[in-house]
Amino acid sequence: MVSAETSGGPKMRFAAAACALAIVVCVAVFGAVLAQRATTPVVASAPTSAAPDAAAPAATPTPAPPASAPTAAGKPSPAQTVVATVPATPAVAPAPMAVQPMAPATAPPAAPAAAPAVPPPTAAAPVSCPGHPDALGVSRVVEIDTTGGPGFGFEHFKQYDFLQPGEVVLTFDDGPWPHNTAEVLAALAANCTKAVFFPIGEHTMWAPEILKQVDAAGHTIGSHTWSHKDLSKLTAQDAKDEIEKGISAVAWGLGHPASPFFRFPALRHPPEMVTYLGERNIAIFSTDMDSFDFKIRKPDQVITSVLTKLKKNGKGIVLMHDFQRATADAAPELLKQLKLNGYRIVFMKAKGPVQTLTAYDEEIVKSLKLPTVTNRPTSDVVHTIQ
Ligand SMILES: [Zn+2]
Repeated sequence: MVSAETSGGPKMRFAAAACALAIVVCVAVFGAVLAQRATTPVVASAPTSAAPDAAAPAATPTPAPPASAPTAAGKPSPAQTVVATVPATPAVAPAPMAVQPMAPATAPPAAPAAAPAVPPPTAAAPVSCPGHPDALGVSRVVEIDTTGGPGFGFEHFKQYDFLQPGEVVLTFDDGPWPHNTAEVLAALAANCTKAVFFPIGEHTMWAPEILKQVDAAGHTIGSHTWSHKDLSKLTAQDAKDEIEKGISAVAWGLGHPASPFFRFPALRHPPEMVTYLGERNIAIFSTDMDSFDFKIRKPDQVITSVLTKLKKNGKGIVLMHDFQRATADAAPELLKQLKLNGYRIVFMKAKGPVQTLTAYDEEIVKSLKLPTVTNRPTSDVVHTIQ
């Protein structure tokens, strides 16, 4: 059935030619898009909340808060820039990016034409890390505006999809802890890379000097309550006390307030406390993938757990524990494997420090000494008699 087309006059021929040209252009553009996509690392199956079985060892998964808006605090202007890329020292930082709420997981805007399609994208610029030419480094630094308490981590929050395929944010909970935290810090330093730490208040009181080392190394420090209780089982007042005392304890340990980043113990998010953190302008960190390292005793299993989940997700915020021995022991090899597999580290920083509440700061200072009824001097109380 080709007859009709061929019999047209010059006008028809022109139309046919134009049509053919249009098709060629279409195919070319489509091909280019495909080629570009093929250079991305792992096919980013939009990270859904594939939460295996929540973070809590036992018990039912937390009813996530309606994965939604930075609650109360101010006007939650949807156009507000929550995540902004700031220049990273080594790698080629892409143009400043503003991720807006509900951005669909689409491919990055544009890369210079099509590079040869090889699976791992690594093309990351060589990292400047003296003595460690194969270091993981930091490929991008993002600054978080915590106004209104934005939530991160697709296990519970679906708003801010700011990571590109292959990008990873490292987070470590439950420290500071003797030996283990130092081991994690050493591995990060050897890779000239950065992470976010969520220390526990009580642990900070026991080992403030370790937390100071985390700070001195330039990592981001948030908080993770005073004593790691499941806040969904406490009264609202007790839960607030846990949050605030944790924040004040970390500030005491550091000698200055930490970042307004908070992670709920066992990833249990009581809605009232999500609202409360929103009013306090503190960002909430869930996770994109939980390593479940707290159940693992062998370092190589920690590595397998993280790499397997990352491969499935393609990118994400990874939850680990500097408190755990297996994780600390695994850290050097884990970072090496991340590099070998073409992942790139994104470092999350806060735009400004958290504001502590004076009443809790005072409570922390008081708790340093146990007041007794008497204040008699030692010489009055203790006498050498023999
Ligand atoms: Zn924890």
